[in-house]
Amino acid sequence: MAVPNQPIIAAHAADLAKGHPGAIERDNLLSKARFEFRWEDQFSLSLDPETAQSFHDETLPQDRMKTAHFCSMCGPHFCSMNLTQELRKFAEEKGVDENEALQVGMVEKSKEFLEKGAEIYSAP
Ligand code: SF4
Repeated sequence: MAVPNQPIIAAHAADLAKGHPGAIERDNLLSKARFEFRWEDQFSLSLDPETAQSFHDETLPQDRMKTAHFCSMCGPHFCSMNLTQELRKFAEEKGVDENEALQVGMVEKSKEFLEKGAEIYSAP
């Protein structure tokens, strides 16, 4: 299947390979917008804003989803970027670094799991 934006993507990749500062800055800004869930900025910074938004809006067209901390790919419970933000916030609240926060969180979740009966869901 042909990818309509292949030449644009190839040109951008070439700019990155050549170390073009504008291309690098654009990718960095896009990554930051992505991590901060600024969807409108992500669309605007993408190589093809209309296609980017149309892909997003295929599953999440509502205006409120332009500030959602997830997309339809991983969903609200498994968005790794949101989980990373929550981990950083948790670490800050606990006054520990992120690795320690992971350990503290795992202990807390294990305790919660046992208190709720330690039942494991299995598909029929
Ligand atoms: S849900 Fe998955 S694909 Fe979507 S923003 Fe989060 S990590 Fe990225």
